[in-house]
Amino acid sequence: MAQGNSILSGYGTTVFEVMSRMAVEYNAVNLGQGFPDQDGPLDVRQEAARYLLEEVNQYPSMMGLPELRQAVAAHNKRFYGLEVDWQKEVMVTSGATEALADCLFGLIEPGDEVVMIEPLYDSYLPIVRRAGGVPKLVRVTPPHWELPRDDLAAAFSPRTKLIILNSPMNPAAKVFTPDELGFIAELLLKYDAYAVCDEVYEHLVFDGRAHVPLMTLPGMRERVLRIGSAGKTFSLTGWKVGYITGAPALMTPVAKAHQFMTFTTPPNLQAGVAHGLRKDDSYFSGFTADMAAKRDHLSDGLRRIGFEVVPCQGTYFVTTDFRPLGFNGNDVDFCRTITLEAGVAAVPVSAFYQDGDVTHFARFCFCKREEILDEGLRRLARYFGRS
Ligand code: PMP
Ligand code: GLN
Repeated sequence: MAQGNSILSGYGTTVFEVMSRMAVEYNAVNLGQGFPDQDGPLDVRQEAARYLLEEVNQYPSMMGLPELRQAVAAHNKRFYGLEVDWQKEVMVTSGATEALADCLFGLIEPGDEVVMIEPLYDSYLPIVRRAGGVPKLVRVTPPHWELPRDDLAAAFSPRTKLIILNSPMNPAAKVFTPDELGFIAELLLKYDAYAVCDEVYEHLVFDGRAHVPLMTLPGMRERVLRIGSAGKTFSLTGWKVGYITGAPALMTPVAKAHQFMTFTTPPNLQAGVAHGLRKDDSYFSGFTADMAAKRDHLSDGLRRIGFEVVPCQGTYFVTTDFRPLGFNGNDVDFCRTITLEAGVAAVPVSAFYQDGDVTHFARFCFCKREEILDEGLRRLARYFGRS
């Protein structure tokens, strides 16, 4: 085999792909990888189709179609009161994944320290390491996912370049409180550091809580890069359209990474997303309410089967403790067993930690049609002898 880069070669295939392949192979209900089973709004897809057939399909501006950058700026103003200059402070990317890579490659100098809070979305650590960053990990753990403030403060140093903050957080379904955000903001000011805020689940915050971007806190406007994803906000994960908002001084180096990474994103998809971001408030509130109902449906069903369900404040996911079911093994064994034997795929939460003792929690994805959630629940109930 060719000698690949030693950092990337050290990683296996991502757990999301592994579990989805296993789900297909064993004909399991896939409650593993996070993707909705119904496509997003018809008018958004129609706008993308119209643009594809009637308008231009050549390279758009590297920063993104003006109408999408304007829509991102207006969305920032409508939901968070942020004043954003669409020409200087918004960039469109091919998904939040590219946005994250652009921010990290654009900002990190070899040797810079990067603070991250486990559980970690899969791309963070490999990209930080590939960019030459030195990871400083802090962890929150189920069932309370409480932020260990002393550990977080200790992870910062004069060498800290930035923190990656994911709120709402995958898979913890934790929404950072304004107080926790305030604590992080103080650290950024104290150490003159930046934040890359992965806010792809910004419209999946439940029970009347508000999503508060770190960027809205005093002193943070110039220090934060805020990332959104149309995949999540419009249930179109295959489109891979993301957007970054940030002050010009941060955006300039980030745009350098983007120009050498992808340079642009398909124009018709950008036009569809621009249309989506301009939809009425009722679309966004309806989307949140619909997902909260799915969360409740799956959580109630899992609880009836005997899982300990960890409260979910946001995202697509519920974390469960499977020990009450009497399963003898770790979370990787558990997810494999239920995929093969019960016919339901889930994701082991240990995959989001470097190492340690979080080994008895499984993540289930609830952004599925009710009949699919019910079929998954029926299969699990049968397997665990609860029906
Ligand atoms: N960040 C988090 C926390 C995610 O869960 C995902 C999920 N897909 C992404 C980033 C990537 O988003 P995209 O599909 O837009 O690249
Ligand atoms: N965000 C999704 C999840 O957590 C998966 C994204 C991916 O497969 N890369 O399941």
